[in-house]
Parts: sequence; C-alpha cells; structure tokens
Amino acid sequence: FLDGKKALITGSTSGIGLAVARALHAEGAAIVLNGFGDAEEIAKLQEELGGAAFFDSDLTDVAAIESMMGEVEGVDILVNNAGMQHVAPVDEFPVDKWDKIIALNLSAAFHTIRLAVPHMKKQGWGRIINTASAHSLVASPYKAAYVAAKHGIAGLTKTVALEVAETGVTVNCISPGYVWTPLVENQIPDTMKARGMSRDEVIDQVLLAKQPTKKFVQPEDIGEMAVFLCRDSMANMNGANWSVDGGWTAE
Ligand code: NAD
Repeated sequence: FLDGKKALITGSTSGIGLAVARALHAEGAAIVLNGFGDAEEIAKLQEELGGAAFFDSDLTDVAAIESMMGEVEGVDILVNNAGMQHVAPVDEFPVDKWDKIIALNLSAAFHTIRLAVPHMKKQGWGRIINTASAHSLVASPYKAAYVAAKHGIAGLTKTVALEVAETGVTVNCISPGYVWTPLVENQIPDTMKARGMSRDEVIDQVLLAKQPTKKFVQPEDIGEMAVFLCRDSMANMNGANWSVDGGWTAE
C-alpha cells in the first residue's frame, strides 16, 4: 500500500532502523538508507531493498543533514531512528558524549523534520515516525544524555504533530523497551563497570528486569508498528507515543 512513496529511515544500516526499512519496503515504499557500516554489506542491503538509495551522512553534522535532505528531495515517510547510547554517572559523563548524543538522538530529528515538512504539507500527506524509547517516558540511572534526548524527542513529536495537524501529515513516536541490537550489546561493558556487575547480571538484573515479559523486543516488532502508522486509516493517530516495551512502562 506504499507504492510510490519514498521513505527515509535514518540509522537504517543496523538494528531497528533496518527492520523498519525492510517492513516499509515489503509494503512497496522506495527506501532511502542512512548510517554507517561495511561498504559491501550496505551494497547488499541496497540490493535487497529494491535498489535503495544510501547516504552515509553523519547526522551529528547539520550541514551533512541539509545536504542529504536536499539530495533526497521530497520524502513522504520520515523515520528518525539514528541513535547512540553512553552509560556513565552524571558527574563523570564525558561532555563530548553528552553533546553528541543530544545532536544525534534529538537535534538531528529537528533538522530532518524542518526540511521534510514543506513537501509533506504541500502534497497533503506525510508520515513522521520518531524512534523514541521507554526512556522517553521513564529514566534509568547513568543515562543522562540518552534519557534527556529521548524525553526531548517525545516533546518534539507532540509539538510538530500539533503544527501539522490540519495538513494530512501525522507525527508519532514509537518507544521500544530493550531490543537486542548492537546499541544494547555495546552498553553492557560500561554498565558492568558503573554497577559492578557481571555480563549475565547486567542482562538479567538491569535489562530484562525492566521488561515484565522477560524477553527482548524484536526489531521486526518496531517495523510492524511503523507500517501500521503509515496506513491511511491511522490519519487520526497524531502526536502519540507508542510503547512496545513488554510492559516496562506499565509498572
Ligand atoms: P544500532 O546501533 O543497531 O543502530 C544505530 C544506527 O544508527 C546504525 O545504522 C548506525 O550506523 C546509525 N548511526 C550511528 N551514529 C550515526 C550518526 N552519527 N549519523 C548517522 N547514523 C548514525 O541501534 P538500534 O538499537 O537499532 O537503535 C536505533 C534507535 O532505536 C535509536 O534511536 C535508539 O535510541 C532506539 N532505541 C533502541 C532500543 C534498543 O533497546 N536497542 C530501545 C529503545 C530505543
């Protein structure tokens, strides 16, 4: 049902973004990938996704975002998904990590949105989907930058939703719990250090302890949610924050 629609998914060379790209491609959307990774693997992904375009733009750099958005021209579905994590106590939190996480997890979405909205408004249809997090609703210790950025993206989602409400464009965010991706795997060593725990203790007592299901969310679950939000029947779903977190934020 997305034939003829162009979807840009940021941070789509891995994890959740890649699953969203696959799900939107399966519905017929033309895919624009973004992120970093091995050139050969990315070429394979482009082929798998029907000759998807690819931009290795670093979204912490405003000029790079502007250039990517200029070249992509006329995005119908924008999925702001690129993100990173750093785990450290606030009084030891590296200042450069704070700046980078705010730039990537929050400001990048502001820039892509401001550049994508004019085309969407003009054509009277658009879908903006932001990958927020359970950490857009609740906090965990040692994740100051990430939690601040994710609460920010939830607020940005609501604000833009109100601004475009009469134009045929919807803006929503999806808030996954823990999904087993490189982003989660890579934070285990620092969490072991910050909490004085073993790897298994971090997985059981920090990560899965949050999720009443005691299971990781699957990247494909988020792909399905993104497809759902693109349906015309979801035109009245606007400014919402969709939890897919195994019950984490119900507690
Ligand atoms: P991931 O590490 O698997 O993927 C991150 C993607 O972002 C990759 O494609 C990477 O190349 C890209 N990226 C990283 N830095 C970039 C930069 N400077 N410019 C452009 N692209 C960049 O991570 P993931 O777990 O799939 O996370 C995707 C999103 O989902 C993030 O916003 C993350 O905060 C959010 N999220 C993840 C989880 C989880 O448990 N994995 C939970 C909630 C929310």
